Amino acid sequence: MTRSKLIAGNWKMNGGLAANDALLGALRAGLRGSGDATCAVAVAVPAPYLAQAQSLVQGTAIQLAAQDVSQHDGGAYTGEVSAAMLREFGTRYVLVGHSERRQYHGESDALVAAKAQKALAAGITPIVCVGETLDQREAGQTMDVVRRQLAAVIHANGHCISEIVVAYEPVWAIGTGRTASPAQAQEVHAVLRAQMAAATQVAARVPLLYGGSMNAANAAELLAQDDIDGGLVGGASLKAQDFLQIIAAAR
Ligand code: PGA
Repeated sequence: MTRSKLIAGNWKMNGGLAANDALLGALRAGLRGSGDATCAVAVAVPAPYLAQAQSLVQGTAIQLAAQDVSQHDGGAYTGEVSAAMLREFGTRYVLVGHSERRQYHGESDALVAAKAQKALAAGITPIVCVGETLDQREAGQTMDVVRRQLAAVIHANGHCISEIVVAYEPVWAIGTGRTASPAQAQEVHAVLRAQMAAATQVAARVPLLYGGSMNAANAAELLAQDDIDGGLVGGASLKAQDFLQIIAAAR
């Protein structure tokens, strides 16, 4: 069973009208003519820029992603953005459970699972982020932590679990310049693949992304691992040439 590759950029809280225009323009130019390629490309932009990004990626191979979604459908939830709203701007993917949301906004496994559910119901693919902290890795808890985080999403979304994307992002590797070694990443990806296989017969086609200081220099080696099907790229996705090189490494 073949699975598609996906390279998703996570802009986090970066960008601006002019900067987005320049970055997406450079990506568009760099990807021109590669429409038949086997690797999907997405950019997760801050919510206020979805409309701008939607018009800039129209007719290109670049798909739109959001960085978060509400667990509610609508109503008195100040500051929240619903899946239906994201959908109106052509959003194809949404990150859920990014470690920065878990850490700074206290998002629990149950909340992340509920957000994934709302995305799926709106026809948006959730990119479910899991990963251990350095303390957890050093205490030998890595597999338990990622299994627990993914289990909550599987439990809440059993019937359509094959529609998700999973991103393994060791917290200690995010924005630190310290990448998991290809072997370390593959070891966790194999565990996640096995967990998905217990939940769906088509686990082999669920993309498992690696994230955490992926860059133009280390992408090829990470992407060569059996169970690494793409990347969730933070810092390096803000530089067009770096991001294009990562995409090229996935093709
Ligand atoms: P990084 O971020 O590539 O800057 O480490 C990855 C992420 O947080 O998704």
